[in-house]
Amino acid sequence: MSADHPPLRLLTLYDDVMNVYADRGNTIAVHARARARGLGIHATAASLGDPLPSAADLVLIGGGQDREQWRIADELAGHGDQLRAWADEGVAMLAVCGGFQLFGRWYRDSAGAELPGAGVFDVTTVAPGPGWPRCIGDVIAHSAVDAVGELVGFENHGGRTYLGAGARPFAMVEYGRGNNGEDGTEGAIRDRAIGTYLHGSLLPKNPALLDYLLAGALSHRTESEVRLEPLPAGYAERAHAAAAAVARSRAPRFERPTRPAV
Ligand code: GLN
Repeated sequence: MSADHPPLRLLTLYDDVMNVYADRGNTIAVHARARARGLGIHATAASLGDPLPSAADLVLIGGGQDREQWRIADELAGHGDQLRAWADEGVAMLAVCGGFQLFGRWYRDSAGAELPGAGVFDVTTVAPGPGWPRCIGDVIAHSAVDAVGELVGFENHGGRTYLGAGARPFAMVEYGRGNNGEDGTEGAIRDRAIGTYLHGSLLPKNPALLDYLLAGALSHRTESEVRLEPLPAGYAERAHAAAAAVARSRAPRFERPTRPAV
């Protein structure tokens, strides 16, 4: 397929800072899946002090603890105009956990201090004070995107994210807690930009999502609607099934609270 398509422009943001729970595995999965499909990748890593490239087809950012988020928040928020413009023109994006929070409008951390967001997603996040439980454990969720289907991953966040009027949930939770443990939503989606709480790493064991992001990136790169042929089921599908079985055996099924959490 590489003879038909120019190389995809992959941009990883702050992957030397925002890599809690090995979210860099998502970047590895993108390279591996692109190679399996004969797709070329032109990769750029932008971190603290680096300018953004002039164009991108797929943007990845991982998660991070509050102190890592404090290191990047102001600069990332400063990139907000460019990131929102890319989201508007159909650049594929995957922002995980702390990266997802900072792709929202703001994040109020566990000390009550507010970090600015890039404003890609109309979401806000509040970390409850000390004594409140973190959302930790396996997650099974079902995506609003038919081609993506079931998602399996792992969450570990104190922040509770709430969708604004302009945001759509990326998925609905079956097992685990998701955005806030109250409304059953997981992540957010805006055009081809996706935010999620799912670590794992997420992409190696969710091949349908990985292909959805690659197809979106390729569609943006070629200014056409590209559909990718399914690949024969293999290790990724077996990893997904194994992780889903573990999640079903030990994660709490999501139950909408009968009273407000706060
Ligand atoms: N620091 C954020 C929180 O606790 C994000 C954590 C993460 O990226 N795993 O909610």
